[in-house]
Amino acid sequence: MNQYFADLHIHLGGSSEGTPVKITASRKLTFDAVINECVNRKGIDIAGIVDCACPKIIRDIEDLIKKGIIYELPEGGLLHKDRLLIIPASETEASEGNGRLSHHIGYFPYMKNIKEFSYIMKDHIKNQELSSQQCGLKCEELYQIIIKCGGIPVPAHAFTPHKSIYGKVTDSIKKIFSPETLLSIPAVELGLSADTEIADYLSELSEMSFLTSSDAHSLGKIAREYTVFEMERLNFTEFSLALRRNSLRRIISNFGMNPKLGKYHRSYCKKCDKVIQTPPPVLKCPYCQRDDNDFIIGVLDRLTQIKDREKSKSPDFRPPYFYQIPLEFVPGVSKRILDKLISAFGSEMAILNIATEEEIAEVVGETLAEKIMSARNGTLALESGGGGKYGFVKRDDKQEKFQF
Ligand SMILES: [Zn+2]
Ligand SMILES: [Zn+2]
Repeated sequence: MNQYFADLHIHLGGSSEGTPVKITASRKLTFDAVINECVNRKGIDIAGIVDCACPKIIRDIEDLIKKGIIYELPEGGLLHKDRLLIIPASETEASEGNGRLSHHIGYFPYMKNIKEFSYIMKDHIKNQELSSQQCGLKCEELYQIIIKCGGIPVPAHAFTPHKSIYGKVTDSIKKIFSPETLLSIPAVELGLSADTEIADYLSELSEMSFLTSSDAHSLGKIAREYTVFEMERLNFTEFSLALRRNSLRRIISNFGMNPKLGKYHRSYCKKCDKVIQTPPPVLKCPYCQRDDNDFIIGVLDRLTQIKDREKSKSPDFRPPYFYQIPLEFVPGVSKRILDKLISAFGSEMAILNIATEEEIAEVVGETLAEKIMSARNGTLALESGGGGKYGFVKRDDKQEKFQF
């Protein structure tokens, strides 16, 4: 078996023609540029690109296939240079009404599948050239379409406050999916403000695999969270087996930021501009008492509200979750230093997982090598994030223990 680094939630900013795909994403983020970033900088082996149902992107992909830059595998997925497996995927916004919005990803094996999905969604989405668009369908209806088109449906950033299944829609997915549909959901994406420990407070997730992905809207952010797969070779069939822990294929580790670094870890009052630090759950502002849209309930606060277990309990198969701080957050790692490290070790994955402290010290000196090691081991000191601002790395203090 081989180990592969996967980032399964990457956005495109624009098509090759320069038209926007995701308004909030960088236009430099074209399909080509993502391939280059994954292969030549990040060291990612499996990339889930979630804007592939946009008609212009479908044309871009077909163009790359014609040029021989990628090719469609008989076992599903698109391969670039025997090195990068690209999984064509879609992110769509479902609505249960009353502002209960949530995002969902469909991973598709073949272009014909995602084209069929795109065609069906034409009737539900106003501007298909933009990604993560609202379709007006309920979660169950959307999942039935993804499944009918041969795709694998996965709830995206399942705990974030604005547009997610647990953040906004429900305290139990059994309330919104039929038992048959639930059986077709092999995994949930944790998102930047949640980790395995937090998610395993919900007993209904104990059969699901967990994915840690970046939701990158710029090239630099690709692989700030990633999942390590163990499988025989790079193709969609293997990926699908691994999600379901079949035939010895599986996920062997999750790498993500400490939830404290996530943007929505704790509740936040926009009016008072304060991230709440008192014990969760805090569901209204302790300063101005508001509990409307200006008070954003943090992931930790929401989880404490909906959990059905007193203690987090992971099933035996659950792989370890490693806190890692992306290199861009490490004080002292400038763009220039990062370039130097990448040319020495080949990729960010190599710097974060393979290079030894001594080897890193030879390139950037001992002080910085030590900081990079503590970023790798998740022992840099942190301050909680909230309300859309990332937490940050404290420079001097010892890390306080994270408590749920
Ligand atoms: Zn989303
Ligand atoms: Zn997204």
